[in-house]
Amino acid sequence: MKPLRLLVLLLVLLAATACQQSPAPDAKPLVIASFYPMYDFARQVAGDRAQVVSLVPPGVHGHDWEPSPQDVARLRQARVFVYNGAGFEPWAQKMITEAARPSTVVVAASTGLARARSDGTSEVDPHVWLDPVLAQGEVEAIRGALEHGDPAGKVVYDENARAFKAKLAELHERFAAGLRDCARREVVVTHTAFGYLTRRYQLEQVAVMGLAPESEPSPAALAHIVRVARQRKVTTIFVEPLVNPRLGETLARELRAKVLSLNPIEGVTAQEAAAGKSYPDLMVQNLESLRAGLGCK
Ligand SMILES: [Zn+2]
Repeated sequence: MKPLRLLVLLLVLLAATACQQSPAPDAKPLVIASFYPMYDFARQVAGDRAQVVSLVPPGVHGHDWEPSPQDVARLRQARVFVYNGAGFEPWAQKMITEAARPSTVVVAASTGLARARSDGTSEVDPHVWLDPVLAQGEVEAIRGALEHGDPAGKVVYDENARAFKAKLAELHERFAAGLRDCARREVVVTHTAFGYLTRRYQLEQVAVMGLAPESEPSPAALAHIVRVARQRKVTTIFVEPLVNPRLGETLARELRAKVLSLNPIEGVTAQEAAAGKSYPDLMVQNLESLRAGLGCK
């Protein structure tokens, strides 16, 4: 046999055996997270020990995403599945029933932290991650799940979780100090994602509309927003970055109000993902925006 042919045969044999070996025993455990904050918290705890992937891709708003059959299939490979819960991922339960293996550790990180909306409806508010104190509780839940799914990594996960929670505690101190002395305490938003955050820092969330984040308001709805905002002498409206900016521009024109960005962190833009922005980075931007809009010293 010619050396070249032998080499080709060897390569074919090698490729065949490689295909048969489904995940190598030393492969990193796969952790699948539902959307951006769950992904960021999980990767902070996992460090280099596990491979963490996000189902909702950059540029997509977590509220509007639906899993594809490929996403469902991916869950079959996961050691741990992390989601927020409290109704944020309405598709999660079906996906878990369909695709999670009996050995897959599933964690809804907001369990025990989410509460009913403060506007008197019985609906539970899922936006737990926007309060840096409650976010520490979500990180704890994720740490527990990773240790359950990969007990050999306990020391690493403990250490990473401790370091990240310290960062979140620092973030909380920064918010508390930065929002202590402000000219206004009303946070006027187009998406009521900030109930936990505003409660934590004695601010008041005022929703100028109860619309789903990505919908385009009708002229009547817009007129209502303008009326409410004028009544309340609103000087700043906070809008979210992943949503069509036209709404904010229209409101600013109508009200002669400032429009600032307040990020519910339900996704990241492609640029933010490329820049490696973490949850604390995005929250610091939120704090700066709040301070500018509320006239804080
Ligand atoms: Zn939301």
